[in-house]
Formats: sequence, C-alpha cells, structure tokens
Amino acid sequence: MNEENIEVNNFEIIFNTSPIGMLLLNEQALIWKINDAALEFLSSDREDALGQRLGNGLHCQGGTEDIQGCSYGVQCRSCKLRLAVEAALETGQAATRLEYSKVLIHNEKERKYWFRASITPVTFNDKSNVVVAIDDITDSKLVEASEIELLNSEAKQRRLHERYRSLIMNMPDSFAYNRIIYDDMDMPIDYEIIEINEAYERIFNVNREEILGKKYSELFSSDDPEIFKRRMAQYGEVASTGVELVLPIYYSEWSKLWFSVKLYSPEPGFFVSIITDMTERIHEESELLLAKDKAEAANQAKSEFLANMSHEIRTPINGMVGMIDLTLLTNLEREQRENLEIAKDCADTLLKIINDILDFSKIEAGKLMIETIGFNIQELLNTTIKAHSQLALKKKLKLNCDLPASLPQSLQGDPNRLKQILNNLLNNALKFTEYGGVILSVQQLAMTDETIELRFSITDTGIGISKQEQAKLFRNFSQVDGSITRKYGGTGLGLVISKQLVQMMGGTIKVESQKGRGSTFSFTLKFMLSDELSYPTQDTFNSINAKKSLRILIVEDDKVNLMVLALMLKEKGHFIESASNGLEALSLHAKNQYDVIFMDIQMPVMDGIEATVKIREREGKSRHTPIVALTAYALIGDREKFLSYGLD
Ligand code: ADP
Repeated sequence: MNEENIEVNNFEIIFNTSPIGMLLLNEQALIWKINDAALEFLSSDREDALGQRLGNGLHCQGGTEDIQGCSYGVQCRSCKLRLAVEAALETGQAATRLEYSKVLIHNEKERKYWFRASITPVTFNDKSNVVVAIDDITDSKLVEASEIELLNSEAKQRRLHERYRSLIMNMPDSFAYNRIIYDDMDMPIDYEIIEINEAYERIFNVNREEILGKKYSELFSSDDPEIFKRRMAQYGEVASTGVELVLPIYYSEWSKLWFSVKLYSPEPGFFVSIITDMTERIHEESELLLAKDKAEAANQAKSEFLANMSHEIRTPINGMVGMIDLTLLTNLEREQRENLEIAKDCADTLLKIINDILDFSKIEAGKLMIETIGFNIQELLNTTIKAHSQLALKKKLKLNCDLPASLPQSLQGDPNRLKQILNNLLNNALKFTEYGGVILSVQQLAMTDETIELRFSITDTGIGISKQEQAKLFRNFSQVDGSITRKYGGTGLGLVISKQLVQMMGGTIKVESQKGRGSTFSFTLKFMLSDELSYPTQDTFNSINAKKSLRILIVEDDKVNLMVLALMLKEKGHFIESASNGLEALSLHAKNQYDVIFMDIQMPVMDGIEATVKIREREGKSRHTPIVALTAYALIGDREKFLSYGLD
C-alpha cells in the first residue's frame, strides 16, 4: 500500500467510525459518502442519501418551491450551510462550528433541529470535495432555551414584584402587612408588622426600622387591655375567615386626624390594614354642608326680606287707598273725583302686585298656610263674580256663572285661597278678552257621604295662547308676551301662585287654549262636606252693620294708618280714641272701658304684646275687653303666638 492509499484508508476508517455525522460531497455538492452516525440521526438509508444534494439528503424543508433539492427554495438562498459548502468548493475556504437550525422531517414528523457543522475542503483524485461534519445539538439548545426562559420568567416575576411594591410603597393610603400571633389555644393574641409603606411612616410619624418585625403590643402598649383583646379578636377573624372588615371613620386624638380603616386577608394567618386619611375630605364635606346651609339661609333670608318688604310697602299703600276712599266720600268736583279714581286704580294695582310678591315669597319660604274652615261655596262664587262685574261692564263683556243645581251649600276648605285663585283666573280672562265674554262654571266630579270633588273652569273668548306658549305658563315670572312693547301689564306670578295654591290644596290645574279663539283654565279640588259655617257670610256683615255705636281704642304708632282706620270707623258711627304706643294704651285702659281695642304689635316704648299681657293681668277673670291684633305679621305661627298672649 502506498502512502496515499494508507491516507485514504485512514480517512475511511475515521469517516466511518466517527460518532459525529459525516458526509462527503463531490464537486457538484452531491453526497457521495455518508457515515453511519449521520444516517442514524437523519434516520435515512444510505441509498436514499447518496447522490442527493445536501438539503435533500438531510430531509430539509427549507425551500418551499423546491421539494427536490437544495438551493432552489427561497430560504435556501440564505442557508448558511449551503453557502459554506459553495465557498469551500469554490475557494477552498473551511468553516467551523457553524450553528444553524433547520426544520427536518424526522420519523415523518416535522421538527426544528439545531446543528453544529464544520465544512472542510479536501482533494480526492485531484477533485475538490467537501467533508461536512454535523453534530445534532438540538438537546443542548433546548436546555439552553428553557434556562433562558426560566431566567426570563424570574426577571418577569422580579419586575412584577417591583412594580407592585412601588405601587404599594407610593400609594397615598397607609398600608401594613401583618402576621397574627396565636397562643397555644390558637387564639389571636398579638400581631407582628411585616411590611409597611411610606404613607404609614408619614401618617404615624415613624420609620420602617422602628416598626418592621415589631409586635403591636410593643408599639401600642398603652391600649386599654379590653380594647386590645377585642381588636385582636377582630383582626384574628379577618385573618382566618378572609372576610373584609371596614371600620367606621374615627378621629385620632393622637394625630389629630380622621381615618377610615379597611382590613383584609391576602393569606390565612395574615391581614393587611389600609388606613386612609379622611381629614381633608371631612373638612371639605363640612365646608360644603356649611356652604349649603349658608345658601339656604341666604335664600330663606331673601324670602323673608321679600315678605317683610311687601308688608312695609303694603302699609303705606293701604294708607293711600284708605285716604282716597275717605276723600271720595266727600263732596268733590267732577275732575277731582276722576283724578282720585285714577289714583285709586293705581294704588289698587300696586297693592295687587305687592300681595302677589308677598304670597310668592311666603310660598317659597314654606310659610303659607292652608286653612280648613266651613264656608258657603255658592255665596263665595256669587260674590267673586260680582266683584268682577264692574270691569266686565266697562269692557262690554258678558260675565256669567254656571253652577250645578245640586251644589251643596257648605264645604270645608280654605275659602280665601279659593277666592284668590278664582280672582286671579277671572282677572286674566277679562284682561285678555276684548270681545265676547267670560264664564265661570263648576262641575261636580265625584261625591261621597263625606267629600265632594269639583272642577272650576274659567272660559274666555279672548286672545288665546298657542301650544308653544302654553308650555311657558305656570312657571315663575313667566309671561307669554315678554317684549318691551307688551300690551298687558302684570308680574307673571298670578298663575304660579294659583298653581301652588291648587297643589297645596291637593288639586291640579290645567289650561286648554287656541290662539285667537280663547282659553279655559280649570282646576279640580276636593272638599269635605260640612254643616258648620265659620267663614263670615253676608249676613254676618249685615248684623255687624246693624249694631250700636261702639267705643273703640286704636293703638297704632303709624299716623296714616291710625287716621284711615279712625276715619273709617267714625264713618260707621263709632266713637274713637287713640294711643300711639302700649304704655299710653295701658293708661287709657285704666281710666276707660272700651268695647274693643285694635292693637298694633310693633310699636316704640311698649309693644302690643306686652300691653296686651298687662291688660289681661289687670282685668283678671272679672273683665275681658276684646283686643284685635292690627298687624302685618301674618306668617305661619303668628296667629297662634298672638292668641297665646291673650289677643283675640
Ligand atoms: P300676569 O300677572 O302677567 O297676568 P299670570 O301668571 O297671571 O301673570 O299670567 C301669565 C301670562 O299668561 C300672562 O301674562 C298672559 O300672557 C298669559 N295668560 C294668562 N291668562 C290668560 C288668558 N286667559 N288668555 C290669554 N293669555 C293668558
């Protein structure tokens, strides 16, 4: 054997016995030798592998379009192994430790393999050949990958932990993680603080080092033993049952702060306490409450101011009307009479506006009272209609009243408020009607032994109200014609007041109208049937008129009011004396006997209440001079208050 043969022989032996897969490629890069190790991990037959391209021999699935062979598929172009083989064949360049992965079909299953290959050019019979040594490193790669994955998941866990820790550490609420300490009988007797956050340090003015690992009993040794025991039982229950516990908000004397405490258990035997500083919120809430109270008080004050102002304005207007009335009773020239009548109209209008504002503010302040007294409904309706007949006559309008024959005479209710609603609706009907007329009709809706329900309708043939405009009615200060050129005066309060009054009496009010055709305002009310009449009827006034002349004392500091009342009563034939305060009244009462005293309440020197109390003391049981309060105090409770002081 020559040397070359020996070399070839040695090569063959190494090639065939190597535990590493070896392939020998010819100059066309086709497999012409393959060792057993390579056949084993490729689970291939030698016959199948020989003469194949490397990829085909390895069952590589890299090329999609090229099922037959290496270097035709898309991925083959960048295949490291193929490029290295080509380079070795063309330039004699070796490549070692080339790591690459391939999807191979192994045992009819596709699987990703990792290989380490060395490509060494060799010359056989003057021909360039390539030895490809391939080692399967898939297993070690998988181990490596799972280690990396493990490392990754550990890092992930660490990151997650850090994230939650920073959340807890930076949350504004105080956080403490605690472990319950049990005695031999498994009773919770204390707890250890395991973790706290920065808010805990800040709120309780401590630092971690002094707190962590400490027992509650060491930190708060001054606690009452009973309270301590109860607390531990509570915390122990949270830690064992896992049921969340929210403690009521409490004030800490020590820190001068308000706290809310929530406890929960993240794992058996442990509990977390989250303490929220509520001080700011409590302050804000109390400030809000204060602001609300202030706003309500301001609104109340406004309503009372309005009510008071209306009283104050009403007093001089009453004086004006009274004086005009008295002057009209004297002999006057025609022009003077006409002027005075115009002045009286103006004063009446003003009085109506003031009365509306007064009612409105009383309703707003919740001080308007609805009475329940016996009254004659038929008479009330007739007198109400009569009061409007002059205006109807002046406007040449028909004004009729249509009552059912079966209408009972006496009912229980508030006749003054009913009259007020009717007056308002009749006023409007006449105001907004130029041709035709107005009808007030009453319909009986239902009747039992004790109650009756009536519908009152006021129908006019006036200007009417469009559907759109109807939506605006019954709202505060709302008028259909809001323009500055509006033809009709008014405050826009009448319907609001009427609606409120109807509602306060348990009824409903509505409007049906057609623009240009007229309107019907109607409301329903329920009344109790009554046998008693406490509301004065016309007969009552007649009998007063027929009485003899009385000796009357008027106690009033307002000169105009005094004069008006005195003149009116004198006109009726009574004898009048006067006092301008309570003290003067007392001395007159001591000397004289009066049939009646009209007593103003608010007066200088001595007010009407004190004067009345003194008169009642003086009179005792032997005498009782009727004292009638002459006052603008007409809100809820005023009447009862005056009666309790002895006024009649
Ligand atoms: P005002 O004092 O302005 O009359 P009301 O509340 O009584 O206040 O009425 C509000 C508005 O409703 C009136 O200004 C008017 O535009 C309209 N209105 C009320 N009644 C009638 C009616 N019978 N016919 C036409 N319009 C009416």
